Amino acid sequence: MTPTTDTPPATQHVTLRCQWCETWNRVDAARFADRPTCGSCKKPMLLDRPIKLDDATFARTIADSEIPVVVDFYADWCGPCRAMAPAVDEVAHELSGRVLVAKVDTDRSPVTSQAFRVTSIPTSIRFRGGREVQRVAGAMPLAALRTFCTAP
Ligand SMILES: [Zn+2]
Repeated sequence: MTPTTDTPPATQHVTLRCQWCETWNRVDAARFADRPTCGSCKKPMLLDRPIKLDDATFARTIADSEIPVVVDFYADWCGPCRAMAPAVDEVAHELSGRVLVAKVDTDRSPVTSQAFRVTSIPTSIRFRGGREVQRVAGAMPLAALRTFCTAP
Protein backbone atom coordinates (compact mmCIF):
# COMPACT_ATOMS: atom_id res chain seq x y z
CA MET A 1 0.00 0.00 0.00
CA THR A 2 1.22 3.43 -0.83
CA PRO A 3 1.01 5.77 2.11
CA THR A 4 -0.84 8.95 1.32
CA THR A 5 0.47 12.18 2.69
CA ASP A 6 -1.05 15.59 2.43
CA THR A 7 1.48 17.87 0.87
CA PRO A 8 1.18 21.30 2.45
CA PRO A 9 1.42 24.24 0.10
CA ALA A 10 5.02 25.28 -0.37
CA THR A 11 5.96 28.20 1.80
CA GLN A 12 7.30 31.10 -0.23
CA HIS A 13 9.84 33.45 1.25
CA VAL A 14 11.31 36.76 0.37
CA THR A 15 14.62 38.08 1.67
CA LEU A 16 14.62 41.80 2.35
CA ARG A 17 17.01 44.20 3.98
CA CYS A 18 15.53 46.16 6.86
CA GLN A 19 15.30 49.81 5.86
CA TRP A 20 16.13 50.88 9.42
CA CYS A 21 19.10 48.72 10.54
CA GLU A 22 20.10 47.08 7.20
CA THR A 23 19.81 43.53 8.56
CA TRP A 24 18.64 40.97 5.99
CA ASN A 25 15.43 39.22 7.00
CA ARG A 26 13.85 36.13 5.45
CA VAL A 27 10.09 36.62 5.58
CA ASP A 28 7.26 34.17 4.84
CA ALA A 29 5.24 35.84 2.07
CA ALA A 30 2.01 34.49 3.59
CA ARG A 31 2.78 36.52 6.72
CA PHE A 32 3.04 39.91 5.01
CA ALA A 33 -0.42 40.84 6.29
CA ASP A 34 0.67 40.13 9.89
CA ARG A 35 2.98 43.15 9.76
CA PRO A 36 6.24 41.29 10.38
CA THR A 37 9.01 43.10 12.18
CA CYS A 38 12.77 43.03 11.66
CA GLY A 39 14.40 40.20 13.60
CA SER A 40 17.18 42.53 14.67
CA CYS A 41 15.74 45.98 15.44
CA LYS A 42 12.07 44.91 15.78
CA LYS A 43 10.86 47.77 13.63
CA PRO A 44 8.10 47.08 11.05
CA MET A 45 9.14 45.79 7.63
CA LEU A 46 6.49 47.92 5.82
CA LEU A 47 5.52 45.27 3.29
CA ASP A 48 2.24 46.83 2.09
CA ARG A 49 4.02 49.48 0.04
CA PRO A 50 6.71 49.44 -2.66
CA ILE A 51 10.09 48.24 -1.41
CA LYS A 52 12.92 50.63 -2.28
CA LEU A 53 15.86 48.83 -3.83
CA ASP A 54 19.26 50.17 -4.85
CA ASP A 55 22.58 48.92 -6.20
CA ALA A 56 23.41 47.41 -2.79
CA THR A 57 20.18 45.46 -2.33
CA PHE A 58 18.80 44.77 -5.81
CA ALA A 59 20.57 41.56 -6.84
CA ARG A 60 20.07 39.65 -3.59
CA THR A 61 16.44 40.70 -3.21
CA ILE A 62 15.57 39.63 -6.76
CA ALA A 63 17.54 36.38 -6.58
CA ASP A 64 16.14 35.28 -3.22
CA SER A 65 12.47 36.13 -3.76
CA GLU A 66 10.25 33.07 -4.15
CA ILE A 67 7.32 35.22 -5.30
CA PRO A 68 7.40 37.33 -8.49
CA VAL A 69 9.01 40.75 -8.20
CA VAL A 70 7.87 43.77 -10.20
CA VAL A 71 10.30 46.67 -10.26
CA ASP A 72 9.41 50.23 -11.21
CA PHE A 73 12.50 52.04 -12.50
CA TYR A 74 11.85 55.74 -12.02
CA ALA A 75 13.37 59.13 -11.25
CA ASP A 76 12.07 61.92 -9.06
CA TRP A 77 12.20 64.47 -11.91
CA CYS A 78 10.22 62.27 -14.31
CA GLY A 79 6.63 63.47 -14.72
CA PRO A 80 5.18 60.20 -16.08
CA CYS A 81 6.89 58.36 -13.17
CA ARG A 82 5.20 60.66 -10.66
CA ALA A 83 1.88 60.18 -12.44
CA MET A 84 2.29 56.40 -12.19
CA ALA A 85 3.44 56.35 -8.55
CA PRO A 86 -0.05 56.08 -6.98
CA ALA A 87 -0.78 53.01 -9.14
CA VAL A 88 2.51 51.44 -8.01
CA ASP A 89 1.56 52.11 -4.38
CA GLU A 90 -1.87 50.59 -4.98
CA VAL A 91 -0.65 47.32 -6.54
CA ALA A 92 1.95 46.96 -3.78
CA HIS A 93 -0.89 47.13 -1.25
CA GLU A 94 -3.33 44.94 -3.20
CA LEU A 95 -0.82 42.24 -4.09
CA SER A 96 1.13 42.25 -0.82
CA GLY A 97 2.39 38.70 -0.16
CA ARG A 98 1.69 37.57 -3.75
CA VAL A 99 3.91 39.89 -5.76
CA LEU A 100 6.80 41.90 -4.36
CA VAL A 101 6.50 45.42 -5.77
CA ALA A 102 9.74 47.39 -5.70
CA LYS A 103 11.08 50.73 -6.88
CA VAL A 104 14.52 51.66 -8.12
CA ASP A 105 15.56 55.32 -8.34
CA THR A 106 17.63 55.21 -11.54
CA ASP A 107 19.68 58.27 -10.53
CA ARG A 108 20.73 56.64 -7.26
CA SER A 109 21.21 53.16 -8.70
CA PRO A 110 23.17 53.57 -11.94
CA VAL A 111 24.80 50.11 -11.81
CA THR A 112 21.47 48.28 -11.64
CA SER A 113 19.83 50.54 -14.21
CA GLN A 114 22.66 50.00 -16.69
CA ALA A 115 22.84 46.26 -16.01
CA PHE A 116 19.20 45.96 -17.07
CA ARG A 117 19.60 48.45 -19.95
CA VAL A 118 16.90 50.74 -18.62
CA THR A 119 17.09 53.51 -21.20
CA SER A 120 13.75 55.20 -20.61
CA ILE A 121 11.69 55.76 -17.52
CA PRO A 122 9.39 54.68 -16.20
CA THR A 123 10.25 51.09 -17.08
CA SER A 124 8.55 48.19 -15.29
CA ILE A 125 10.23 44.78 -15.19
CA ARG A 126 8.75 41.58 -13.80
CA PHE A 127 11.14 38.95 -12.41
CA ARG A 128 10.38 35.35 -11.56
CA GLY A 129 12.95 33.03 -10.04
CA GLY A 130 15.51 35.81 -10.27
CA ARG A 131 15.11 36.21 -14.04
CA GLU A 132 13.46 38.91 -16.09
CA VAL A 133 10.28 37.63 -17.73
CA GLN A 134 8.66 40.79 -19.07
CA ARG A 135 9.19 44.53 -19.27
CA VAL A 136 7.13 47.52 -20.28
CA ALA A 137 8.62 50.92 -21.07
CA GLY A 138 6.32 53.83 -20.34
CA ALA A 139 3.75 54.63 -17.69
CA MET A 140 0.88 52.23 -17.13
CA PRO A 141 -2.51 53.06 -15.63
CA LEU A 142 -3.59 51.01 -12.63
CA ALA A 143 -5.52 48.33 -14.53
CA ALA A 144 -2.66 47.67 -16.94
CA LEU A 145 -0.12 47.63 -14.12
CA ARG A 146 -2.24 45.16 -12.15
CA THR A 147 -2.46 42.88 -15.19
CA PHE A 148 1.29 43.16 -15.71
CA CYS A 149 2.02 42.32 -12.06
CA THR A 150 -0.18 39.22 -12.01
CA ALA A 151 0.76 37.79 -15.43
CA PRO A 152 2.58 34.43 -15.39
ZN1 LIG B 1 15.98 46.20 11.41
